[in-house]
This record gives sequence, C-alpha cells and structure tokens, in this order.
Amino acid sequence: MRNAKLLSVTTTLLIYFALPLSAADKSKTNTNSADSNKPSYELPQPAKENLDLNMYQQIRIEGLTHSHVMDYASGLMDGIGPRLTGSPNLKRANEWTRDQLAAMGCSNAHLEDWGEFGMGWQQLNTWTRMASPDTAVFITQAAPWSPSSNGAVSGQAIWVDVKKDEDIDKYKGKLGGKIVLLGDMRDVKPVDKPLFERLDDKELAKEVEHPLTPESRDYIMEYMKRLELRGKVAQLLASEHALAVILPSRDGRNNGGSGGTIFVDSGGSLGWYSYQREHIQPLPVVIMAIENYGRVYRLLKANVPVTIELNVDTKFFGDHEHGFDTIAEIPGTDPKLKDEVVMVGGHLDSWASATGATDNGAGTVVALEVMRILNTLQVKPRRTIRIGLWTGEEQGLFGSIGYVKLHFGFAPLSTAPDQMKLPEWLRKPAGPLVVKPEQQKISAYFNVDNGSGKILGVYLQENLAEEPIFSQWIEPLKDLGVSAISVRDTSGTDHESFDAVGIPGFQFIQDKLDYSSRTHHSNMDTYERLQPGDLAQAATVEAIFVYNTAMRDQMLPRKPLPHPELEEQRKAPLKNVMPGAVEVEQKDATENK
Ligand SMILES: [Zn+2]
Repeated sequence: MRNAKLLSVTTTLLIYFALPLSAADKSKTNTNSADSNKPSYELPQPAKENLDLNMYQQIRIEGLTHSHVMDYASGLMDGIGPRLTGSPNLKRANEWTRDQLAAMGCSNAHLEDWGEFGMGWQQLNTWTRMASPDTAVFITQAAPWSPSSNGAVSGQAIWVDVKKDEDIDKYKGKLGGKIVLLGDMRDVKPVDKPLFERLDDKELAKEVEHPLTPESRDYIMEYMKRLELRGKVAQLLASEHALAVILPSRDGRNNGGSGGTIFVDSGGSLGWYSYQREHIQPLPVVIMAIENYGRVYRLLKANVPVTIELNVDTKFFGDHEHGFDTIAEIPGTDPKLKDEVVMVGGHLDSWASATGATDNGAGTVVALEVMRILNTLQVKPRRTIRIGLWTGEEQGLFGSIGYVKLHFGFAPLSTAPDQMKLPEWLRKPAGPLVVKPEQQKISAYFNVDNGSGKILGVYLQENLAEEPIFSQWIEPLKDLGVSAISVRDTSGTDHESFDAVGIPGFQFIQDKLDYSSRTHHSNMDTYERLQPGDLAQAATVEAIFVYNTAMRDQMLPRKPLPHPELEEQRKAPLKNVMPGAVEVEQKDATENK
C-alpha cells in the first residue's frame, strides 16, 4: 500500500506577463536582471523563431535518404519479439536499446528502475481444436498472464452467459471439467471498407477542430464493471473446476477484428491486475478468432455437444519483476543551457500475441532513429537531448509516470478504501502537485505512439502558446505532409505523464493506416505492418522538433501548473442557480450503494 506523503512545497505560480517587448529584448536571451532568476519558459516568447534551415536540410537528408529506421525495426520486432512488461524479452529490449544508443554515440545510456511491476510471463505455445462433432483447428492465443493448462486437456464446451451477479448462480454445479465459452457472439459484418486508410483533408480538418462536446468517460466505468463481474465469474469457474475459458476476440475499426485477426490485451483478462500474483487468473484463458467462436457457439445454442481440446503452455518468471526505462543522452553544449533538457520517446513494451510492431515498436524505432540522425550529424545541441523508452505503458503508463515521479513531480493520490481498488490513473488526487527542481529544467517531451503512420501535425495539449512557435517550425515541412496543429489534448500515451505535472508534453497527429482496424494489440502487429516511408518521415520530423527545442533561446512556454485536486470542485454544478428551488436534505452518498 502506498503512503501519500503530503509534502509541503512551494509551487511556482506560472503567470504570463503580457508586457510589450522592445526589439532589443526580442533579440537577447534572458539577460534582464529582473528576469534572470525565472525559468525561461515564463518569459515572453519571441515573435519570430530562428530556424536553422541548413540543419533542417541535413536532418531531412539523413532521415529520408539514409534512413535506418527499418534496421532498428527488424532488430527489435524480429530479433527480440513481443515485449510484455515483466517478461524476459522486455528486459532484453531494454538492454538492446541501451546498447544501440551507446553504439550510435549517445552518452549516459542506462536503465532506470521504475519499481515493482508483478509477474514475468511468456507464452510458449497455445493451440485449440474441436474434437467433436467434427474436427477443426482454431485460431487462438493465450490471454496475457494466463496460467498453463499443464498439457493438453479435453472437455465438453459450455456457453456461459453472465451479464449480472445473479446470473452466476445458475451455473453452480454445472461447470466441472468443462471448457467455458464466456461472452456473447457478436455481429461479424463484411469488411466492405478498407482496413488501411490515409487520413484525408476533411478528417484532418476535423482533428484540428476543437470538439465542443466533451468525450464521455462512461466507457471506462463500463469496462471496469465488466472486469469486476468477470473476476467473480473466474472465482466460480475455479471453484467448480472448469478446465479453461475461451473468449471471443473483439472487433476493430471497419470490422477489422475478423479474417484471422484477434485482439489480445487486457480485455482478455478475468479481472483487474492479472499480472499480480494475488490476482492471478485461476484457470487458462484463450482469445479465439470470432469465426471459430461463432461455430462452437451456434452448435451449443442448437444443443449439439461439442468437445474442445486445448493446450496452453505458458511460463511464469518472478512474482516481483521490476520495470525499467531505457535512457540516453546527447549532452548539451551551451554553458548556460546544458542543464536544461528536451526529451523524446515512446513505449518499448507491447502485448504478446505478435511482435508489437506498431504499438509501439514504431514509436520506439522512430525515437532511436531521431537519436541516430542527430548523432550522425554530430549536432552540438545547446540543451541536452534525452531519449526515454518507457515500459508498463499498456498497464497504465507505469514507466513514464515512474520516471516523471522520480525526476519531476507527482500528484498525491487518495488512499480512501474505494479509491485503492482502482488503478492509479483513475484514482482521485488528494492534494496539490508535488514539484521537484528538475521540473523547471525540462523544456518539452515529444512522443510517437499512434502507430506506423507519418506525422501530419501535432496536438498542442491545450497549450495555445505553442501555436505560433510550431506553426513556424512546420512551414518548411509542409511538403512532407506536416500541416496540422490541433489544440486538443489527446490522451492514451506517455506524453500525458509529463503534461500532468506541468511539462509541455506532445503526441504527434499521425496518419491512421491500419492501426485501429487491424494492428493495435493484435496478433497481426508485425514488421510487415510497418510503413518504412512513414517511419522515416516521422523520425525526420520528430528530429527537427527535438533539435529546434534544444537550440532556441528559451524553453517552450507552459500552461499554468495543473491543480488536479481542484478538478472535481471546478466541474461540480453551480449552486443556487435555479430560482424557486427549495432546499432538500442531502442523502448520504453511501446509502445509494
Ligand atoms: Zn501504445
């Protein structure tokens, strides 16, 4: 259990002074004595960016003509393979990326421990077949952290339909020795739209337009409820000595979850924290291709007995495996700015049913290539350029949160009993941010984690002050397709860990390709799905963003420091607005449970 220490900290109030600038001020760095103690992100920003177009051109040639991004891709995806957090493969990937970074000329290449994760796990083999009334070979893979079946097992299939707690009772005494199909058969619609698409101008314009209706977060609560119910079902299955569970694969965009593609991620686990020993799934679980699931389902619905045989062969390593981030640097050279940092990265971990090529091998090899390009060109950055390759992202951004917590700051989280049941990213903050001194020394973090698509622009993460800066940066990149600046705060990637503590953190807008239709968390997320031209473009563009951030006089402007502890209060409806409303006695919130 975590102890949220409430440290008293003086947090810097970030106030932007809208003072008019003289021409002299604009051309000088922060030498003004009144401003000299302030971090440069607080000072007024110059109207014009000093772009080194010669360096733009050199980066373009190195990144586009001499790209080595696919060499890194094959090394990581083919040579190392799936990289589930806690697994020996991920540890190898940490070491391999560290060694590659050192070999290309980076300094200080090392691994940083972000803390204990849980169980190490590896899928050795999984097969599933129908033995009667007909024989058939099915497409399945073990759900992550599924236990072994300890050899081939055979049993009658039974479809279990549990939508609410009460449904569980009707299966008591009926599940011993059975192989359980858990979950409804879903619609399998024809794939009549392309699985691989480029974002057209209209869609890109939509991405730039700010959504006026906020996205509902109800699906998170739904998902949590479903996992909780599944956890209860799992207990029943274990106590009844069922042999194994088969789950149908979910669908993807444009009906991509068919035709041999299965999605194998946290949606395939029987409850929360299946990577922790105390929450281990009590019996083997496999995810099955929807067409295979459909056949067995229809036979069972028609009261035809079905025998299934399966063998789930998985291996567990330690129960207390730690997670590591790979870190390396190109040291800054300006005596005044070398302690300041710009970071670039992506997550190195993946799911385990394929080699995690687009999620997020792509962002990893792009970040490696960014560092290779800058090393090859022997840039002498004014600020230090640092790469961070995170792990544990798929289970809740653990690696980047851990790094940010250690170096930059964190929000203390509520330790109320109902809150402790939730993963950290859903827990309520219990006090203002705790900010460390290094937080003032990092200009920005750039992330690629939306697949293999080229960079079409950047999300500002609701930091409008970057707009005039980035729009000048992308002007010479328009011919590469970089044109969009969206004010939106995009979510779901490691840039959020930085943004959460007031550091400018950015995820690029990427072309969509077949990411959400076919590759994201699927058994088809392989090297073949990577688009070499797109990745070379992404590395070139990201290298230029990183270089510009390292070279400009000031750090990038910031949003005011977040106050997560005030969010709930700020979102609460206004009181005493409705004329004529009478006061009603407040019911105790716990009574409704
Ligand atoms: Zn990812």
